Amino acid sequence: MRRLEGLILLVLFLVCLLCGCAEVPKEMPKAVTAPPKPEVKPMPPEVPGVLKLPHVPITDWRYVVVHHSASPSGSAEAFDYYHRVKRGWDRGLGYHFVIGNGNGTRNGQVEVGHRWMYQIEGAHAGQAEYNQHGIGICLVGDFDEDCPTGEQLESLVSLIRELQRVCHIPSENVVMHRHIKTTECPGRNFPYYEVLTQLLQ
Ligand SMILES: [Zn+2]
Repeated sequence: MRRLEGLILLVLFLVCLLCGCAEVPKEMPKAVTAPPKPEVKPMPPEVPGVLKLPHVPITDWRYVVVHHSASPSGSAEAFDYYHRVKRGWDRGLGYHFVIGNGNGTRNGQVEVGHRWMYQIEGAHAGQAEYNQHGIGICLVGDFDEDCPTGEQLESLVSLIRELQRVCHIPSENVVMHRHIKTTECPGRNFPYYEVLTQLLQ
């Protein structure tokens, strides 16, 4: 009886082998690797007025440089595409943070760019020192025409406060783009002294 069972098993195995189902795959198929997607994270405030930065090891940051997008709408993803594709910057999004105005992302939403996540220098200042050591924050909007929203300013102050705390940046090193380069950025309506006053409180 045992012999018969063994014989049946052998026949079944041979049939399987002939059909190909007992064949051992020679090589596992290679995983298809998609090109890396830009890492852009929304960062909603957990407590109103208090922003928690993602936990990353901090490098040598000495300045905060504030910009506007000079466009009525936008988002970190949109600017990343523009910088990567239109300008040909391999590292994409030149800013470290983007603050939305409701046209592209939520009004006051802070998005964290991959340059912050990986602590790499920015491409926003047009000055080596400020690209290398300056944290670039872009508010969506054209502040030559419009004004930043209250929500944007609230998020900006919270974000800068947190960056100052984590990176030990003094308030005099919180600058507008036009302080360091010949440009109108962040627009004539940007309330710099209002922001600075809030930071000093
Ligand atoms: Zn700028």
